[in-house]
Amino acid sequence: MTEPLRVLLKPGRSKPFWVGHPWVFSGAIKKVVGEIGDLGGEAVVEDERGNVLGTGYYNPHGKIALRILQHRRSTDLTFTPRPPADVVRERLALAVGRRKNLGFPSRDTDGYRLVNAEGDSLPGLIVDRWANVAVIHLGSRGMVTLRDVIVDEVKRLEGIDSVVVATTEDASKLEAIPVERELVHGNLDGPITIQERGVRYKVDVLGGQKTGFYADQRENRVRFAKLCPGETVLDLFSYVGGFGLHAARAGARAVMSVDSSNSAIESAATNVALNGLDSVVQVQCTDAMNWLKESRSLGRTWSRIIVDPPKFARGRKHAAEALKKYARLNTLAMSVLEPGGLMLTCSCSQHVSDADFLRMLTDAGHRGRHSVQIHEVWTQGADHPFSAVAPEGRYLTAVLLSKGA
Ligand code: SAH
Repeated sequence: MTEPLRVLLKPGRSKPFWVGHPWVFSGAIKKVVGEIGDLGGEAVVEDERGNVLGTGYYNPHGKIALRILQHRRSTDLTFTPRPPADVVRERLALAVGRRKNLGFPSRDTDGYRLVNAEGDSLPGLIVDRWANVAVIHLGSRGMVTLRDVIVDEVKRLEGIDSVVVATTEDASKLEAIPVERELVHGNLDGPITIQERGVRYKVDVLGGQKTGFYADQRENRVRFAKLCPGETVLDLFSYVGGFGLHAARAGARAVMSVDSSNSAIESAATNVALNGLDSVVQVQCTDAMNWLKESRSLGRTWSRIIVDPPKFARGRKHAAEALKKYARLNTLAMSVLEPGGLMLTCSCSQHVSDADFLRMLTDAGHRGRHSVQIHEVWTQGADHPFSAVAPEGRYLTAVLLSKGA
């Protein structure tokens, strides 16, 4: 076995890592000692005094240069790093145990996140469970290296018959790892059906976005749906129909689901039929901004609106630009919201804070010459935990607002 690399930190940069932060950016690194090669590899991290503070994986091409897997936490403690495979096995078991504690799976929900990367102390590893299929998303070089161990553990989990391994284009660019989507265990013939608080969806695990479905909004869909009986609902950026389906099931009078992706809208239509909601939900494949502009010029309005766009800020330096985009979108969306109507508007950009997002909403309201009342701020579901030391893992902001005078 090759010797691990030694990653030496610059003076004054080690504190977050003593308290357990997993990400070391290249700016904090003074020097890397050893054969880095093209791919990097296992690494020991040292502070400016030569104290070992943890071990992890160094990736010379990654935006995050090093992800720490094992932290020493204090110089009082002797530190003997364990084999990474053992650490991964143990943390996977812990992650599964946490979901059990939180009530997953349950009689009405078999689609949820089993492992949420840094939030479960497994940097870069996401595992979603869709009924009896597990979709493993390898989002870091370290996890790509540990692929066989991960697959082996996941396929033995209770209730899992098939395993898909995926790496999205986004992750591939950030970490310089190959894009893939492959069935590595069991069988899959076509989409599978999952349940989420009683709503059924067909999930195309081999062809959908990300790992096939977005479970992070589950509880927000249920909460918002409770506010929709008898109302007219516009679900913008609907993907496969989640918010609109819950609203319709809860008694909405009419739902319009809009997404620009053909395959998303086709799936949404399938899901509408699957839940017997054809008489309530209509779907439309079009650009959300164009839909809003057209609706405004036609004078169409809704009493409930969901705005759940894709991530607008890919990095910290894109945050300002993203806020401008959110402002344009929200101004338009509020222009077709009935006075007194309720809107749930979301950002899944981890670089946009709650405070910035709320300020943006004030601005959007001002542009429309009306006030904005904030009722609640929600976030991702409990199966998407974030580490207390790395609050950037709390990426979802969902604001329930109403439009005033
Ligand atoms: N609300 C969804 C998740 C939305 S993900 C849910 O509850 O599951 C973001 C969605 O925005 C994707 O489905 C993507 O296809 C869609 N999208 C991206 N750009 C768009 C645009 N300009 N207009 C409409 N939809 C768009």
